[in-house]
Amino acid sequence: MTAVVIVGYGMAGARLAAELHARPGDRKVTVLGAEPHRAYNRIMLSTLLAGKVDEPDVELTEAAGHGVDVRTGVAVTAIDRVAREVRTGDGERVGYDHLVLATGSRAVVPPLPGLDPAALPDRVAVFRTLDDCRRILALARGARRALVLGGGLLGLEAARGLAARGLDVTVVHPNGHLMERQLDPTAGAVLAGTLAGLGVRARLGASATGLAADADGVRLDLSDGSSLAADLLVLSCGVRPDTALAAAAGLAVQRGVVVDDRLRTSDPRVSAIGDCAQHDGTPSGLVAPAWAQARVVAQLLSGADAHAAYRARPAVTRLKAAGIDLAAMGDTAAGGDRAGDGPVEELTFADPARGTYARLRIRDERLTGAILLGDNPAVGTVVQLFDRGAPVPSDRRALLLGRALGGAPAAPAASPALMPDAATVCQCNDVSKGALVACWRAGARTVAAMSAATRAGTGCGGCRDALAGIVGWLAEVDPAADEPAGPPATDPADDDSPRARHDRVEVA
Ligand SMILES: Cc1cc2nc3c(=O)[nH]c(=O)nc-3n(C[C@H](O)[C@H](O)[C@H](O)COP(=O)(O)OP(=O)(O)OC[C@H]3O[C@@H](n4cnc5c(N)ncnc54)[C@H](O)[C@@H]3O)c2cc1C
Repeated sequence: MTAVVIVGYGMAGARLAAELHARPGDRKVTVLGAEPHRAYNRIMLSTLLAGKVDEPDVELTEAAGHGVDVRTGVAVTAIDRVAREVRTGDGERVGYDHLVLATGSRAVVPPLPGLDPAALPDRVAVFRTLDDCRRILALARGARRALVLGGGLLGLEAARGLAARGLDVTVVHPNGHLMERQLDPTAGAVLAGTLAGLGVRARLGASATGLAADADGVRLDLSDGSSLAADLLVLSCGVRPDTALAAAAGLAVQRGVVVDDRLRTSDPRVSAIGDCAQHDGTPSGLVAPAWAQARVVAQLLSGADAHAAYRARPAVTRLKAAGIDLAAMGDTAAGGDRAGDGPVEELTFADPARGTYARLRIRDERLTGAILLGDNPAVGTVVQLFDRGAPVPSDRRALLLGRALGGAPAAPAASPALMPDAATVCQCNDVSKGALVACWRAGARTVAAMSAATRAGTGCGGCRDALAGIVGWLAEVDPAADEPAGPPATDPADDDSPRARHDRVEVA
């Protein structure tokens, strides 16, 4: 029997345990997780903070399986690679034949006078774990004003969530525009305008220089000499891969734990997946790579595919905040072209008063980057074209705005009927339209049933509308004349399981 030990019971560790459980083989899987609770969908913490879902809705329903020994509240403190065992905080030693590190990332606490990362003041919180989220919610109760330090994706999701709870929120961001890693300055300005309308102010180009916090409130000192006061402060200053354990064990570590295409570290008996891993020079920080990596490691460890290899795919960023539609992908922010690249075609449209901005970068008839802000019917098409690296249609206006000349709706290229089978519908779980159609033909008749069978829609939830569209389209073109054997599909409205409730929730 092979002993597999997984360190970290987060999104990557839980998925690997489930993937191993689903494959035959004589193995014992032990998962050691430092957090005191079952694995949960960390992505949904933003939605939980905004009050759109409750705690049970963020549980990962596939978290563990029979035969998988999951121990929560157990931190691994050391790895002995010679003895092939890990040591836990309570002094236990757990032996392994293969070890998988899935230790994730930690929130960065900026080096500010008055801020001790090991003991944050009462009214100051980071936003990474369920306990952080509970803490922020507890602080927000009875509070009037909140500050968020950091105007990146997570900071803005936190800010929008707090504003949705009625707080007056100011985001302090050192850069000249919000989300500078994904957006250009114009898009950042349009986004700031949209946020202002939703109760979130942005204080740009100002960095924090000091902090004072006591039972009465928080004061943040800024580089321009001014200060801001509030009842609570959320620090959203980025994340750092959690590599301490790997480094102490002598594994190769750069920004993350260095892994090859088979997710092996510098020790072939130790793999690393998820946020803690650095593949091809970059830690990913996103769930789709974490879950794809978990699958590759499961294929390798179970022998299901001895040649399985991980290949990074281009990422699409979406902001999960009610009242803001934002998708960004590819080389949007930098704008710089590399030597040898072909000419770039730039298409932009801006209507700041309506919170709309669209920008596409096309090279050699393919999308290399896009920003779509505001309600834009082209978003599904653009994401598909970018994801597949497919040639763009000649009607550029329709591609940019989802509308052809004269204002007529563009050809609905993202409509299920016209989507190729290979098109990815769920980016987080890499589920294609073809897989969903096959699932329908196998008897799944509702979004909940499709989701349970393929996992589509169980990550960030951004594909839930597309999934519903495909179910509706299949119901029309392929009605259930030949009902399959087996239990009838449940109507999600009658299904009160956490997953079904999760599916019914509109994503913030
Ligand atoms: C609020 C929020 C919103 C997000 N939104 C998105 C999104 O929309 N899209 C997206 O793709 N990504 C998003 N992310 C990022 C996404 O959550 C991560 O990429 C994902 O969680 C990575 O999974 P992981 O298992 O590698 O790390 P984690 O989920 O962080 O899990 C790591 C686990 O390992 C445990 N651990 C660490 N060290 C030890 C140890 N020594 N012993 C035992 N256990 C240990 C930790 O306690 C933790 O439970 C978001 C993150 C946050 C916080």
